[in-house]
Amino acid sequence: TAAALNSPSPADLWEMDRSHSLHPWTNFGSFQDKGALVITKGEGCWLWDADGKRYFDSVGGLWCTNIGLGRREMAQAIADQAERLAFSNTFVDMANDPSARLAARIADLAPGDLNRVMFTTGGSTAVDTAVRMVAYVQSCLGFPDKTGIVARDHSYHGSTYLSQSVGKRPGDRVPEFRYKEDGIYHLSPPNPYRRPQGMTEEAFCDGLVQEFEDLIARVGADRIGGFIAEPIQASGGVIVPPEGYLKRMWEVCQRHGILFIADEVVTAFGRLGHWFASWDAFGVMPDIICTAKGLTSGYVPLGAMIFSDRLWDIMARDPSRWFTAGFTYSGHPVSCAAGLKNIEIMEREGLLANAARVGAYFQNRLKAMEDLPLVGQVRGQGLMICTENVANKATKEPLPDGVNESKRISDAAEAMGLIVRPLAHLNVMSPPLTITEAEVDFVAEVLEK
Ligand code: PLP
Repeated sequence: TAAALNSPSPADLWEMDRSHSLHPWTNFGSFQDKGALVITKGEGCWLWDADGKRYFDSVGGLWCTNIGLGRREMAQAIADQAERLAFSNTFVDMANDPSARLAARIADLAPGDLNRVMFTTGGSTAVDTAVRMVAYVQSCLGFPDKTGIVARDHSYHGSTYLSQSVGKRPGDRVPEFRYKEDGIYHLSPPNPYRRPQGMTEEAFCDGLVQEFEDLIARVGADRIGGFIAEPIQASGGVIVPPEGYLKRMWEVCQRHGILFIADEVVTAFGRLGHWFASWDAFGVMPDIICTAKGLTSGYVPLGAMIFSDRLWDIMARDPSRWFTAGFTYSGHPVSCAAGLKNIEIMEREGLLANAARVGAYFQNRLKAMEDLPLVGQVRGQGLMICTENVANKATKEPLPDGVNESKRISDAAEAMGLIVRPLAHLNVMSPPLTITEAEVDFVAEVLEK
């Protein structure tokens, strides 16, 4: 009714959403049964639903509300920019002042000679663009067939056709979606918890690197252009790779002229205590970094593909050619103004250092949950953490998937005022970088219950 549309009650909102929305990754059974939790307000790490109930958001939106919600100066920066210049396209030699400034700022923060930025609408479109750039660069180098992309099982790189084809989380693939398979290869996920029994972590790592070498030998280095990796596989289950794994995979790439794409959509902008994790946390200098999320702390959408001067120079050798990628909202002035303010706040408040300090406390505090019968492992780094829930700790048999046990855990937590994310048989957390030790204790106490 008109009344419901103009001033809806909490029940009206719930019903409108339930009757008209299709949410990302909808499970039709649980959505039709329960509908959605409708959120109406956020401040710091806390959310309020339409009924006024308060929740601690340990998920940080979706790995993204890094500076926390409800910041007036962010709202003001967004409003000021929307008033002054709400939009201007960045196609064919046009720019706007926030997009120029943010590109320069990102170049400043990114490692090595990663000084070039293409803005996108989010993480998926950054990955999509990066995969195309790999083929373009290899072609400019005289290797037109070096277009194959190597990724890992359990990776998540986005939800466009191409980025979802590159990613491969169990359970995500549905037979009706015809993923691109030609020229996309998947290696084993570097998950030490799931390594064969009795095998050392070093031997496990050797095997993963060998698997990459074997793939290259089989397919041919002349047909593989890029390797893409999240430094820590995020929604595949917060998979922290074995010591030295990423660096060794990078060395393999360098030996075979394979470009290294770091998917830092989650790990950049402070989540692991660094602006970018590849170099600072793992000693890898990527050719391309994809990022999004913490770049604006989720206040407005924005993604970025950051790449090296070296790649730029290779592409620019032939001035007659065009790199035909980009989006209407690439370099959106309002998003870029938010990005600039977001970086300013992170620097001023020392949020990277807080993420490192409280992140270490978080990891330690939750590690104690491994004593619980249901918890096979608690793992993570910085402010990325998950509990892997198992039916049998000795055999590591996961709790049943489907509309699953982790969802029962997150529903119970929700009733106690805590949002945690259910992912298959895992519960995943990635709170804002502003989280305090007292808030960590709250999360731990609810989860333990
Ligand atoms: N890459 C990683 C590692 C992600 O975690 C995500 C989203 O969760 C994406 C890419 C896709 O980003 P977006 O949802 O902004 O398109």
